[in-house]
Amino acid sequence: MLVQVKGLTKTFGGLTAVNSVDFEIEKGKVTAIIGPNGAGKSTFFNLISGFHQPSSGSVMFDSTDITSLKAHQIAKLGIARTFQTTHLFEQSTVLDNVLIGHRLRTSSGLFDAIFRTSRLKREEKESLEKAHEVLEFVGLTNLADKHVSEISQEEMKRTAFALALATDPTIVFLDEPAAGVNPEETDGLAELIKKMVSKGITVCLIEHKMQMIMNLADKIMVLNYGQKIAEGTPEEIKKNPAVIEAYLGG
Ligand code: ADP
Ligand code: MG
Repeated sequence: MLVQVKGLTKTFGGLTAVNSVDFEIEKGKVTAIIGPNGAGKSTFFNLISGFHQPSSGSVMFDSTDITSLKAHQIAKLGIARTFQTTHLFEQSTVLDNVLIGHRLRTSSGLFDAIFRTSRLKREEKESLEKAHEVLEFVGLTNLADKHVSEISQEEMKRTAFALALATDPTIVFLDEPAAGVNPEETDGLAELIKKMVSKGITVCLIEHKMQMIMNLADKIMVLNYGQKIAEGTPEEIKKNPAVIEAYLGG
């Protein structure tokens, strides 16, 4: 298993947002997490990616215990993520957003920045090549020089994918990648996710759009009030009485 989560729990004051969740992600597959608003889905991602520290439980990635690592350490190991609300610099270009995201994760420190070492120059060149490569991959080459404030919601989603891909991740966690985009654009984003998988990237996504999930996911986990209430293939999940009651509304 690429990711192995055991007994993962997060409490905020008196609220248990994620409650003893056991979960595994298989390499090369698409795994989806669904559940009502407030079920703990985004918190689950925050725990795996190191943005929150778990109250208890463990997260293993490729046989490394990453439970107590910080977000930037986890990113360096090959785990990338996007956020439910896109975190982009609106006044910068699409290309610069990808470059900033990439540089934040490369190794040059303050010394390199001040003395403009040859290492820094090499890294800048590599960052630029990488940024162009991922923009082409997500279909945004033509918009590289546009400001983020001028592009559509769907193009922002693609930019967020590009940021995630710029780090050459083994796995990407996508938090509601198709929220706020129309059905046709949703199909386009689903195609892009399939293209990532065909390049060998493992994908785990949170999404409310059931048709998209049913079409993409190899496995689905259902969260409700922080607990895993079901897990299985799309076909199994559709028939599960607990899921129908909690989520699909009968
Ligand atoms: P989902 O993504 O499934 O909609 P979240 O993981 O965002 O749910 O939230 C789960 C629960 O945890 C909610 O009740 C939410 O209010 C709470 N929560 C999330 N983040 C925090 C935080 N940083 N501080 C306090 N409560 C939080
Ligand atoms: Mg959420």
